[in-house]
Amino acid sequence: MKIGLIGCGNMGGGMAAQLVGQGQGVLCFDPNPETLAKVVANGASGASGAQEVAAGCDLVILSLPKADVVRAVMADIAPALRPGSIVLDTSTSEPDTTKALADRLAAQDVAFIDGPVSGGPIAARGGTMTMLLGGDPDAIARLRPVLDILTAKTVIVGPSGAGHAAKIANNMLCAANLVLVAEAVRLGQAVGVSAADLLEGVNAGSGRSGVSEVNYPRWILSGAFDSGFTMGLMRKDVRLALDLAAQSGVSMPAFDAVARQWADSAGAIPDSADFNAITTYEARS
Ligand code: NAD
Repeated sequence: MKIGLIGCGNMGGGMAAQLVGQGQGVLCFDPNPETLAKVVANGASGASGAQEVAAGCDLVILSLPKADVVRAVMADIAPALRPGSIVLDTSTSEPDTTKALADRLAAQDVAFIDGPVSGGPIAARGGTMTMLLGGDPDAIARLRPVLDILTAKTVIVGPSGAGHAAKIANNMLCAANLVLVAEAVRLGQAVGVSAADLLEGVNAGSGRSGVSEVNYPRWILSGAFDSGFTMGLMRKDVRLALDLAAQSGVSMPAFDAVARQWADSAGAIPDSADFNAITTYEARS
């Protein structure tokens, strides 16, 4: 299977490095010449445009910032895709965009699979991402050898768009937990319990979460704030959850309050900052 990759940033660049490290050739494109040069320096091949990747590969992996960009890239490359090929969209995108693309491409015998990922750039480089898959089960089965290289865990969530819906729900909970654990830590400190001691207690109980078990020790209490996932990308994911709720007629008053903090913090914490920085934002109720 000839593998191509479009979008070679933090996650795409990591996936390219992992594929090359496992002996797979990868034809890559990114409009940012420095980003493309980095993956080529790591052993990938560089393409002059996205259409060259589409025309030359049986599997095209996308790792793009958001749904608008996915739609634009797919409009550009769709005519060049080979019949029988697969597009695997690892971007955090929108279920509706994904379903529309999957329907359109099925007519030209191309499978469009949603496979958004968790784990950050370290997991992308190490082949230990978690991937939530949606779409045609036969195409997902054909992807298995590549999924085994890129991921430590895959969950086939359901039909097209299901992977992106589950990813939005996951990031919604992560965004909420960051805000809530920060409040719990401040509450503990106010009554004389250190953050580390409080979290040891929480992590032994039913209040624990990925945020309390992983984010706090690794990126927040250590002061590192270098997870590779930005405030801007999490703010996008928060908006995706709000949009999906609005489209579906679901009321989410608790998440609305969390979402306000992600938006209101924009004056104090720029989009370029590490997403864990939201825990330093003290909104007044
Ligand atoms: P990034 O900004 O580092 O990389 C995105 C890349 O897409 C950039 O290199 C950019 O030049 C490229 N790009 C932009 N427009 C393009 C176009 N028209 N054609 C081709 N390439 C284009 O972002 P990232 O952190 O690698 O995230 C990529 C996706 O993965 C996002 O959807 C993000 O939400 C998701 N994600 C990120 C993380 C993380 O920890 N960084 C974790 C899970 C999921």
